[in-house]
Amino acid sequence: MAHATAVRKSRHLHLELPALPYAQDALAPIISAETLQFHHGKHHRKYVETANQLLEKDPVEARSLEELLRELVRKESSQKLYNNAAQAWNHDFYWHSLSPEGGKPSAPLRHQLERDFGSYEKFVDKFAAAATGQFGSGWAWLVKKDGRLEVMGTANAETPMTQGIQCLLTLDVWEHAYYIDYRNQRERYVKATLEKLLNWEFAERNLG
Ligand code: FE
Repeated sequence: MAHATAVRKSRHLHLELPALPYAQDALAPIISAETLQFHHGKHHRKYVETANQLLEKDPVEARSLEELLRELVRKESSQKLYNNAAQAWNHDFYWHSLSPEGGKPSAPLRHQLERDFGSYEKFVDKFAAAATGQFGSGWAWLVKKDGRLEVMGTANAETPMTQGIQCLLTLDVWEHAYYIDYRNQRERYVKATLEKLLNWEFAERNLG
């Protein structure tokens, strides 16, 4: 992703909270400015700050957030740092997975969805089922794996990126993503977001 998630400061990695790629009210009324104020300004910020505090105490040699995550998986070290750093990466990926101009995929990507899911509608059903059915906190993903598009769910901070899987889009299904706007009705948040906000241009860029 071409954005400044991490900069090198002194000897070790220091993460920065990236700006939202749109105005705080740009996704309203589907996702309100108040939700983004808390979700980006408090939750995402906290993951970045906690990761930085842990890195201050126990520096890890890495030049980017991605490299840090791969290094932590390789060493099976510091679950707390991994969780916070993975959440920093997941949230940045999530902001880019949404767009006020979101909606439907372009013809080439639509054809890939039809090839691998049967139809665009079947993809939507499968993604919605993964997002709605994720028990507790987690994420729903559109990924490319072994040459095919697939839907995946991950729990808590877990991210397909560290498994070497190509991520195209994600949806945050932690309660903090929807509770202000939809209370406990995750299904309504998922449906509205899939219909109106998915950033298919971002998905295409991730396909490379
Ligand atoms: Fe979140």
